[in-house]
Amino acid sequence: MSEKLTLALSKGRILKDTMPLLDAAGIRLLEDPERSRKLIFDTSHPNVQIVIIRASDVPTFVEHGAADIGVAGKDVLMEHGAQGLYELLDLEIARCKLMVAAPVNPPEVRGRLKVATKFLNITRDYYAAKGEQVELVKLYGSMELAPLVGLAHRIVDVVDTGNTLRANGLEPIELIGHVTSRLVVNKASMKMKHSIIRPLIDQLGEAVAARRKGAA
Ligand code: AMP
Repeated sequence: MSEKLTLALSKGRILKDTMPLLDAAGIRLLEDPERSRKLIFDTSHPNVQIVIIRASDVPTFVEHGAADIGVAGKDVLMEHGAQGLYELLDLEIARCKLMVAAPVNPPEVRGRLKVATKFLNITRDYYAAKGEQVELVKLYGSMELAPLVGLAHRIVDVVDTGNTLRANGLEPIELIGHVTSRLVVNKASMKMKHSIIRPLIDQLGEAVAARRKGAA
């Protein structure tokens, strides 16, 4: 295994909020991935490269060792199942909530509750734990539309300000869990590349603590 370290990130909120933490650990991107179609980027650190992938693919890349470390939301990790990797640090970024949402004045549900979501495993487990049998409708996006067009009675999605729900006549009704982004590490890389990964985790941990103190 090479001593080069590959870090998997996704564009958007996670990239934006992870960059200052990486900066504190001496890792700066040499170009802005948001303005590029490239998928792999060198950094100011000679041994660290960054791959930019879909958020939901980060656990797969890290589990298979295609990336040594990655940043993924707790929602994505819960959905993927985190047995194949180490979840080592809560980066306390991209904070949101996994919620069940319903129309503000929900019509009476006859028969089995239909729930639209991209989080099939989380939703199945959530309702199973409540002892409720529901019908799951798998969607890839725009979940908020489902109750409006009769596709489902409820949705399960991540919610930040709640503006998207409100704009579509929905409201959050049940909290499934709090979500922040986590640093995940491939199990073999943790052993083989310990000398480069350990200091990085420590520096990121210090950056998270400093950020928390600054926000307090
Ligand atoms: P909201 O601020 O609740 O209107 O959220 C806007 C949209 O962004 C919603 O459709 C959410 O699905 C999505 N979203 C909010 N926070 C996050 C997050 N931390 N990670 C991924 N998606 C998010």
